[in-house]
Amino acid sequence: MSEPSTGAFAATLSRNASKDVSLGRIEQRTTPGSVAHVLRNAILDGTLPAGSQLREIPLAADLGVSRAPLREALGILADEGLVVKYPYKGAFVAEMDANGMAEIASLRKRLEPFAIELALPRLTGTSRIKVTRALEDMAIGADNNDLAGTIKAHMAFHRAFYELANHTLLLDLWNSWEAQLQMFFSADHRAFSDLHDLVADHERLLTIIDRGDLDEITQEIAVHVHSPSAAEIAAEAAASSNA
Ligand SMILES: [Zn+2]
Repeated sequence: MSEPSTGAFAATLSRNASKDVSLGRIEQRTTPGSVAHVLRNAILDGTLPAGSQLREIPLAADLGVSRAPLREALGILADEGLVVKYPYKGAFVAEMDANGMAEIASLRKRLEPFAIELALPRLTGTSRIKVTRALEDMAIGADNNDLAGTIKAHMAFHRAFYELANHTLLLDLWNSWEAQLQMFFSADHRAFSDLHDLVADHERLLTIIDRGDLDEITQEIAVHVHSPSAAEIAAEAAASSNA
């Protein structure tokens, strides 16, 4: 059971009251974009757990910003699917939906080999930089133990194949699950004791993709793409209702 906490920000984490965390004041010029950036990182690295309430007054005080840019920032994050707003209740960090994640994984296992197949001819050209830059960014994120940075790069790595496939509907499908996938990556990356293992997984995947054997690619994607394990679902549930 949690201790009563006095920190202003702790009050915003009503479902996670045992953690007395603060995001720190934003020192640079505060635009809705810069506020959204701080909150996005806090959501993706787990400082703001899934399901926690984002109360405007204490949150604005904690960040040292006024409520207008904060409200706009929450709107940006709601558009991205990281925050959910309920009438009369306010804003909450989105929760990972285990069934939804399993459905996304089942589609990715089928569709990602197809996206890669369509993208293969463009992987030898200048467009390859989309994939290699994402891998480099993932490595930089791992070097700095930067969870939000590695999640962004991980998303960019897989998204690159959907973009290079030149298939509008396929890219629309990726866009439709991007927010949920980010929430899953957020939980999944925290399970890595060393994020460099994640980088190594993707270097290996790219080596297999470059060999161009579609059966081998399909097999590797079937292993690579997974949905939350029972343990991850339990850990998320505990983190978001730790009161
Ligand atoms: Zn991956």
